[in-house]
Amino acid sequence: MSFSQKYHQLPTFDKHAGEHESLQRKDPRKSLRRSPFLVIAIIMFLGVSIPCIRMARSRASLSACNSPQRNSSTLANLPSHYTLPSGDKIPSVALGVWQASQGEVGNAVKTALSAGYRHIDGAWIYRNEEEVGQALKASSVPREELWLTSKLWNTFHAPEDIEAALDESLTKLGTDYLDLYLIHWPVAFKEGTTVLDEDLTADPYPTWQKLEELVDRGKIRNIGISNFNIRRIQNLTANNLKYQPAVNQVELNFWNPQPELLQWSKENGLLLEAYSPLGSDKQVGKSLSVPEVKDIACKLGITPAQVIISWSVQRGTIVLPKSVTPSRIAENLAVFELPQEDFERLETAATSHSPQRVVNPSAGWKLPFDVFDGQ
Ligand code: NAP
Repeated sequence: MSFSQKYHQLPTFDKHAGEHESLQRKDPRKSLRRSPFLVIAIIMFLGVSIPCIRMARSRASLSACNSPQRNSSTLANLPSHYTLPSGDKIPSVALGVWQASQGEVGNAVKTALSAGYRHIDGAWIYRNEEEVGQALKASSVPREELWLTSKLWNTFHAPEDIEAALDESLTKLGTDYLDLYLIHWPVAFKEGTTVLDEDLTADPYPTWQKLEELVDRGKIRNIGISNFNIRRIQNLTANNLKYQPAVNQVELNFWNPQPELLQWSKENGLLLEAYSPLGSDKQVGKSLSVPEVKDIACKLGITPAQVIISWSVQRGTIVLPKSVTPSRIAENLAVFELPQEDFERLETAATSHSPQRVVNPSAGWKLPFDVFDGQ
């Protein structure tokens, strides 16, 4: 805004120069004599004024963010936990560790625990549970204060494989129980291949029954699902379940906000967990540059990532931002209640464009259908 106003002042200067020129035409000799001085004066003016305009422009944009209308300390806090059907309290913000590579994930977990995180979202397939476990062991945080989630990979749905897969995760994480264990995807692969086992794909209930048994035996405290659409949730819950799914972990971000799934889940008492909340590594830059996100961040004196993570919690979901960068890990834990008008502005912006998934492995897995739509 201030830039365009200043920018428009340049033609004003040109206009005066033009008027001056027209006066000069009345006296060509004077004009000739003065023209070198005039040119020098113009060059000097431009030499001084253009840097000034640039500086003013950058100060204006900086002051827009450095002098926000709100200070984050005046913003209300959002819920730090949700209560699951089991009565357990799950922290609303977790450190996600997908694509946190070996050699860096341990430090990320240590940094997160020091910053105050108590919830780590992992999975067998992330192939970093051992290093996560070592970092947990090195920390002084008691096990009962931690929330550890892992996920059953697609190759382990055969009833005899489920417990062995869980045990492997438990051993690597250095714990004898998980707070939450999810069916990672609503598909099952025959072991060692990416060929679907159609029966298990059609019916996750046998897997669920085994998970229920593992809850009863104390190896898991809560069980849930991930990447399930409404039809698949209904297929599962149509069975006589001993334990209802505690959560459904799905992609939820600015590009794919899934308002219908969110609404349906609220109506049916199923908590959602927002994965790839920043748009994952592919879209994070684009997410943080969304004009509404930037405007709200400037207005409230918080960062664009904090706007998006806060919005996720304010939508009533758990949120799982991943970072291996210490400053970002700390930044992502600080969530604030967005004023209602800002929350609605962001919700409207997110739900007004066509949804665009960041994560869809269907083609990579050579599925004969889209995993999110089913067969
Ligand atoms: P994400 O959290 O949306 O984005 C991660 C990317 O954002 C990384 O490149 C990270 O960089 C960057 N980033 C993080 N905080 C930032 C900040 N404050 N400012 C700027 N950049 C920032 O993506 P995600 O890893 O796809 O999803 C998060 C978690 O969800 C995963 O780790 C996993 O736990 C879970 N997940 C689950 C499923 C599932 O099928 N159930 C699928 C996908 C993800 P640096 O790390 O370099 O800082």
